[in-house]
Amino acid sequence: MVALSRLEQLYRHVILDHSNHPRHKGFSKMQPNQVIEMNNPTCGDVIELQVFINDEQRIFDVRFEGQGCSISMASASMMCEVMIGKSVAQAEQLVREFSELIQGKAITNEQLQDALLLAGVSKFPARMKCATLAWKALERALQQEEKVVKK
Ligand code: ZN
Repeated sequence: MVALSRLEQLYRHVILDHSNHPRHKGFSKMQPNQVIEMNNPTCGDVIELQVFINDEQRIFDVRFEGQGCSISMASASMMCEVMIGKSVAQAEQLVREFSELIQGKAITNEQLQDALLLAGVSKFPARMKCATLAWKALERALQQEEKVVKK
């Protein structure tokens, strides 16, 4: 067995904490601006999002439901924490940066908070879609919202 460094142990602890105690999991009774469901068939992860956007194009809440592996659930929990309070434009930029992080690029944007700890997933190509699922779902929801706003 390979010994984990202290730092890797800390990362693993934070990731497991998010998957065991996900933040912002469970749907609201309020009517969201967008609802979306996306899945990752290679792993069996399913994520549904409720996205709430105010008149100033700012995300004031994101809730998720779903099931899947610990990486997909931890990533969804982290994504909700990152996105609440961000403008739609900021959120789209953060999705792009997170996607680059998972592809192995050196991204250090502190606004990604705990999600930066998922950088290690870049070493496991089979898990990349688990990590990016919730973020891709948010991106899709924001694209749908832009179509509504432009009408
Ligand atoms: Zn997965």
